[in-house]
Amino acid sequence: MCAMTTGGFRDIQPVEPDLVNSVMQSAALLATILVAHAESQTRLQICRALQDEGYKVLEGVASTDTLSALDAHIPDLLIVGFPGSDAITFLQSIHHHPVRAAVALLALDMGGEAVPLLEAGADDVLAMPLNTQGLRLKVHSLLRMKVAERTARELVSRRSRDQQSLQRASQRLAACRRLSDVLTVTAEVLRANLGFDRVSIALYEQDTYTLRYAVSTDSQGRVYSPQDTPVAVVLSPGSQMLELPAYQSLFVDRQETYYIPDTGGRAPAYFRPFLDGPVGETLLVALRVGDQDVGLVTVDNLLSGRKFGPEDAGLLLTLGRQVALAIERARLADELEARAREAEVLAQVGATLSSVLEPAQLYDLVLEQAAKTLPFDMAAVLLYRDGWATVAASWGDPGVPADTRLWPLGEPMKSWLPEDNRPPVYIRDTDANIGWLDQEPWLAPHQLRSLISVPISAEGKVVGTFVIAGFAANFYSQRQVGLAAAFGDRIGQALRNANLYVAERERARASEELMQLRTSFVESVSHELRTPLTAILGYAEILQAHWNGSTDESRLEWVEKIAAAASRQQRLVEDLLLLTRVEGGEVGPRIERVHLKTIAQRAAEEVQASYRGQRIDLVGSEHLAVLADPGRALQIVTNLMDNAAKYSPEGSPIIVWWGPEDNTGSLRVLDRGPGVPSNGRDHLFTRFGRVPGSRMRAGRVGTGLGLYLGKGLATAMGGELDLESTGSEGSTFRLRLPLARD
Ligand code: ADP
Repeated sequence: MCAMTTGGFRDIQPVEPDLVNSVMQSAALLATILVAHAESQTRLQICRALQDEGYKVLEGVASTDTLSALDAHIPDLLIVGFPGSDAITFLQSIHHHPVRAAVALLALDMGGEAVPLLEAGADDVLAMPLNTQGLRLKVHSLLRMKVAERTARELVSRRSRDQQSLQRASQRLAACRRLSDVLTVTAEVLRANLGFDRVSIALYEQDTYTLRYAVSTDSQGRVYSPQDTPVAVVLSPGSQMLELPAYQSLFVDRQETYYIPDTGGRAPAYFRPFLDGPVGETLLVALRVGDQDVGLVTVDNLLSGRKFGPEDAGLLLTLGRQVALAIERARLADELEARAREAEVLAQVGATLSSVLEPAQLYDLVLEQAAKTLPFDMAAVLLYRDGWATVAASWGDPGVPADTRLWPLGEPMKSWLPEDNRPPVYIRDTDANIGWLDQEPWLAPHQLRSLISVPISAEGKVVGTFVIAGFAANFYSQRQVGLAAAFGDRIGQALRNANLYVAERERARASEELMQLRTSFVESVSHELRTPLTAILGYAEILQAHWNGSTDESRLEWVEKIAAAASRQQRLVEDLLLLTRVEGGEVGPRIERVHLKTIAQRAAEEVQASYRGQRIDLVGSEHLAVLADPGRALQIVTNLMDNAAKYSPEGSPIIVWWGPEDNTGSLRVLDRGPGVPSNGRDHLFTRFGRVPGSRMRAGRVGTGLGLYLGKGLATAMGGELDLESTGSEGSTFRLRLPLARD
């Protein structure tokens, strides 16, 4: 026998005529014949002749015992040889007998009664006297007729049984809502009702050209669905599998059936993946709706040994059409249901993601939610930072910590890292598309074969990408690609939300701070303005009231106090004016060569005038000159010394030290005060920045402008002002200005 033939079912050869004859002969040999004859000698003669041929023979003498033998044994052939009208009467009496139809009837014609005997119901007539050869021939042909009749009857009854089964199957299929039910019912019907031994059904996915074997029956007739590891065959154009004759004729030549007379025990595993045992005669039938492939059914009859006939192909084709329709219907229903479920999940994902307000927390949650929606073996959110795709969060690879820079952007090989808004990139098989994955140290061990990458955009700009990947090629369906895109959208929305929230929070914080600053500014400024005014008014009133009774000395003292207060106020007003100019960037310092010693001395004089008895030690090189605006430099240093006095206890000394340092002239003001607490250091140099809880000497006020202005002025002169060190032992502020070269 041949191992495997190509071609359609029509190639099945009809059963050979010789074989039919031998079947017939053996059927005839097994036949039982009842010989009814009144006359014993002839009866014996007939019986002997038939026994010699190998038939089983029973005898009847009169009509009564013949009838009971007929009932008891239901022979294949009855030979009636009653004399005269007895034979006709007997034949008429059994005409409606229940077993009559099963029995062939040969009447012996004793002389000229052939026609009445045939009319009375005999199937054939044999003229007497007995001719043994004639008897043999008649008996043989009658039995052959009987066997043929029975076979035909069986065929008809099988056909009608099959028709009924088909009808019931189509009713059952029509009632199936789920794809899994369609498959189970089909397998059951093919096996139990239509009599095929073993069955398997595969579904075809058009977008991936994949045939997935979904249901099979085993030799005990159990139906099972290997859902977890469905065997998939890729039949994409040019693929090796498509070269195989079975797939070639069904999926390329578009034949409806494919017949394999005998696989010779070498079952092609690709179309019988779940088979438990050898395969002989096999029949494959394509499931199609219109021209569209839906799947494939494979059956065999190895266990029963029943041979396939053309009617099997007809049956399978008829059922196949109904199954294909039912599959399409169920797939559509499943698809609609899946979409509704996805929409629901996506809405939930969107809501969950949008509830995250810190962008940094978003990315891990994204992967957590993605795992509920999409299958993957590895996933990552990559953000584009400083021209690099950087890991924000990853799943399935603990070796890549967040903030790892993976690839620079803009490389032609990495076109799947989208930098503009575009549909997701789906790489079905990295082996075929991009070999470079093997060289990526953190990807190589995982052998990722499929990859989807979706751009994440916030405020119209692509800020990163969401990547999911699988170990298998063709891991994703087109629907899942769409789902990944929808997921990317939700990430973008969530990111926008989080960014908006952060910006809003910053704005709120800034405006609250501003409000506070304004309030404290107004309070400080009005206080500062009022204090000298009170002094001016007070001494002016004293002067007025005591002009005549007072000495010139006292009057002079009061006038001096008025003048001092007025000049303080003038300074404050100047500070405020300067503030607006510094902030507006309009301070154009008049740079000239100036000695740091001069500035230190003048500042010390001013501060000592304000803090009587304040000890200020001046230490520094005599001729160290810097390039600066003398007025501004004096203002900065005076403020540093004033602060050193103001924020230190009465009697604690101030040291002022200056000297060259890194191409600058550096001046330090050291005090022994409480220092600046760590929580206040950030505020020092800000506008109105004051350290909460700072203690000042009695009668002093601060505006929080001095250091801020000082820093602005120092910068404008190309220098720097900072807090060098601070602690419980006091603070050191340092002013650096460009050195003046000789
Ligand atoms: P003002 O002294 O008018 O408040 P400044 O800008 O000169 O403004 O100083 C800002 C703040 O820095 C002060 O309010 C004070 O809290 C802190 N500060 C400045 N100098 C010293 C210092 N030598 N010791 C301790 N704290 C200081």
